[in-house]
Amino acid sequence: MMEAHLFVDQERFLGLKARRPLIFAGPCSAESEEQVMATAKELAALKRVQAFRAGVWKPRTRPSTFEGMGTPALAWLRAASEATGLPTMVEVANSRHVDQALAGGVNILWVGARTTANPFAVQDVADALVGVDIPVLVKNPVNPELELWIGALERINKAGIRQLGAIHRGFSTFEQTQYRNKPNWEIPIELKRRVPGLPLICDPSHICGRTEILQSVSQTAMDLNFDGLMIESHINPRQALSDARQQLTPAETGTLLEHLVFRKETTDNVLMRTTLEELRERIDKIDHEILGILAERMTVAERIGTYKKQNNVTILQSSRWDEIVRTRLEEGKQKHLTNEFVLRLFEIIHQESIFHQSKIMNEEVEEREPEPGAGG
Ligand code: PEP
Ligand code: MN
Repeated sequence: MMEAHLFVDQERFLGLKARRPLIFAGPCSAESEEQVMATAKELAALKRVQAFRAGVWKPRTRPSTFEGMGTPALAWLRAASEATGLPTMVEVANSRHVDQALAGGVNILWVGARTTANPFAVQDVADALVGVDIPVLVKNPVNPELELWIGALERINKAGIRQLGAIHRGFSTFEQTQYRNKPNWEIPIELKRRVPGLPLICDPSHICGRTEILQSVSQTAMDLNFDGLMIESHINPRQALSDARQQLTPAETGTLLEHLVFRKETTDNVLMRTTLEELRERIDKIDHEILGILAERMTVAERIGTYKKQNNVTILQSSRWDEIVRTRLEEGKQKHLTNEFVLRLFEIIHQESIFHQSKIMNEEVEEREPEPGAGG
């Protein structure tokens, strides 16, 4: 794992410190001058939105669907910005988009998920940004790969962009889940740990894919201390030419924002701090015990490995693994742990066990005593 070297100017990033959480909103796509203007005006009236988003060039999964209105839409954004005072933001996927967006007066750019997954495309965008000083945000790649996300941030950063941010929009999966793009929260959390100070925005719209679960995903992002949200909002979502199911009206966007609870990372309350410290000490102790127990479990696994080796038995016995999964899930349920957690936990414990056993079973093969009668 290479260290991430990013130079981020958080202070200048849209006045983040004073305006946290930042709220970006606007339609998935700019569709007409009227739609852009009406949506921007209603969003500006909420007095909570700090930038107006709209897709102009749309990367669509399948051809023969609406691919955005292209360059002419930039004039509609500029008019909406002049009418409302909101800065505008669009997605760019190549250097031509960057040049045209900048010429059209766009204030903020973002790199979309499909583009982040392609280093050639990101480099092309980065090359066009040399000498430019505006905020640029990089969405996570469609696949759950943190290095690729960091790599794209580095390319943009190396071009000289200091007002840099990241957008978490979830990850594609083949399996059907309640999300359109699974959040895998551990990935943006790890990004925050690897690149402290990088503004991190959540895009609940593309995570959810439907409006019903937007509120709870947005709240989770706030509770995980994200710096802001990017929400798709359309004056008439049902008529939207792209992503109709996940867009809110500006009024609904206002309601969602009103219902969000904003919590602070730290508190001045001394009693609360002492309680928190005590509870954290307990957590530290429990984690210490968990690691001790896991290490003990691996020692037992190694002893099993020795046995299996002596008796020439495979490491994996499917029926035993099946029994482990079933019984642990059952016990986990009684202990109010989710199925997903217990399954993933035991999958990685099992993986580590197999690793320990196979080390035992395959060690010293080369140093084995020569077979009787074997030549020297
Ligand atoms: C979008 O923001 O409309 C978009 C295309 O998003 P993503 O790149 O996250 O799919
Ligand atoms: Mn969209």
